[in-house]
Amino acid sequence: MTTTARHDQADTTTRGREKAFERARHSPVVRHEVFQTSLMSALLDGIYDGDMTLAELLGHGNFGLGTFEALDGEMIILDSVPWQLRVDGSVTRASLDQLTPFATVTNFVPTLSEQVNGPMTRAELSSLVDHLGVSANYLYGLRITGDFEWVSTRTVRRQKRPFPPMSQTTSDEPVVRHEHTSGVMAGFRTPLFEQGINVAGCHVHYVDNEHSHGGHVVDFVMNSGVIEVCLGTDLRVRLPLSEAFQDADLAPNDLDQQVRAAEHH
Ligand SMILES: [Zn+2]
Repeated sequence: MTTTARHDQADTTTRGREKAFERARHSPVVRHEVFQTSLMSALLDGIYDGDMTLAELLGHGNFGLGTFEALDGEMIILDSVPWQLRVDGSVTRASLDQLTPFATVTNFVPTLSEQVNGPMTRAELSSLVDHLGVSANYLYGLRITGDFEWVSTRTVRRQKRPFPPMSQTTSDEPVVRHEHTSGVMAGFRTPLFEQGINVAGCHVHYVDNEHSHGGHVVDFVMNSGVIEVCLGTDLRVRLPLSEAFQDADLAPNDLDQQVRAAEHH
């Protein structure tokens, strides 16, 4: 179901929320699986060994995000094509025999969409998604397609063995700002109860239409485009079969802090 609304009129009023609820209620709801391999907490603990090929990963979904063996760049999957965005700024189509230590995918079927006209910050867009009739208790695939005034991204750097925990790898990543860029953001809006299993809140990766730049999205201003949301009701988690995973500390006391530091700076 598609509606058109200027963001400044959209959905922050009681009436807007009621309309959004009506839309959500009348969408055909079917069970929909989100698949992930490994855990965010394992990545935080330095489990960067690839445990699954992209060929196998794509069998579980045509859309999503993740990272590569040894933390060698950000992954974005659009229409079954995995792209590798490295810290040197390169963007390449990843090959199916490459390995991932962590990725989340789904077969993206938009259940709600909203047209955006006029500049909208990341915070405004996030609040718009909140008012689209989504629940805090489900997962959602999130696809944002459009023209951006600017998008700032960062990219993880390939690590050498023995792998350090993620908190020691992300602090020196440069944030790159791409001006006047058009492309697609893909990712997930994940419930709070999933913190550590995945990244609670909105987590999206970006690649421009020419596949010339992108990365893990830090911030942006969107000029126009479409936000699409795909309801996920079922979460399937595949745990790595490795000694490193067996011995990992997956529930540190500062887990919440670590996830925030790694993914939201
Ligand atoms: Zn990311």
